[in-house]
Amino acid sequence: LGFKGCLKIGGSQIRNLLNAKDFFLFDCDGVIWHGEEAITGAPKVVSSLIKHGKNVFFVTNNCTRPRKNYVNKFYRLGFTGVMQEQIFSSSYCSALYLRDVAKVQGKVFVIGGEGVRNELLQAGISFVGDEDAPDGTIFNCALASDVKAVLVGHDDKFTFLKLAKASCYLRDPECLFLATDVDPWHPLQDGRILPGSGCLTAALEVATGRKAMVIGKPSPFMFECISSQFRVDPAQCLMVGDRLETDMLFGANCGLDTMLTLTGISQMKTAQEYRDSDHSTNQSFVPDYVVDTIADFLPAFED
Ligand code: PLP
Ligand code: CA
Repeated sequence: LGFKGCLKIGGSQIRNLLNAKDFFLFDCDGVIWHGEEAITGAPKVVSSLIKHGKNVFFVTNNCTRPRKNYVNKFYRLGFTGVMQEQIFSSSYCSALYLRDVAKVQGKVFVIGGEGVRNELLQAGISFVGDEDAPDGTIFNCALASDVKAVLVGHDDKFTFLKLAKASCYLRDPECLFLATDVDPWHPLQDGRILPGSGCLTAALEVATGRKAMVIGKPSPFMFECISSQFRVDPAQCLMVGDRLETDMLFGANCGLDTMLTLTGISQMKTAQEYRDSDHSTNQSFVPDYVVDTIADFLPAFED
């Protein structure tokens, strides 16, 4: 048919959409905040949705904080009344996967920081990093004997030795290979970028010839985590995100209506290019709706 999707909406169209949906899934960075700054109006949008009886969830690929730290961050940035139960991060969901799906017996070798480690700890999963011989080399370091999974996430202390150890563990085909997310990079201030977990996973994929199982968006697993804890009807959900290749694809993979907000990474032009391209697989990147900012929801709450 062509020209389906990328519908820029405002006013009464937003009001109708908000009335029609019961579940709102928000990506975090680029949608409700930029780093340590709330997007103008976002705290009010979230509290208004909750006040109107909507179910609000946060679905973030950022694995660097445990959920309890996110609760503090929400509060610090002016989002009041957000509870830990509403927050689904790639590190929390990785821990759920290892505990409830893979039912891993043995240790997990972790490439990642405090967010990943804390969530594993809380899920009761034993793990090792490279603390046994951080200054050693792959020729002389000790390797643990009962590593049954390798979990890779964002790690600002990533080293060649961690890469080498993880590669050794993954030579065992029974050893699971899991990635919190495979985000390529993230925007910082001043045009700088932060390389994402995807770079580290890619290094390990090359070294092992294996493919990681991905927990974060666009994999549908984080939606399965939400569904296993709450009664959610995909038809009643709206997924709001700023990155076409993760958030919109995630929504499409889970059968959710999707909305792109233009306060983050992806622009309208790219969305339209996906929409108008001849490759049918590109349609999964196309948002159903587009808004400049989620602050455009605010008039819908006034009456
Ligand atoms: N991972 C890291 C390390 C990040 O810094 C960010 C964004 O800042 C993300 C992932 C993406 O988070 P989100 O899925 O909330 O956009
Ligand atoms: Ca984002």
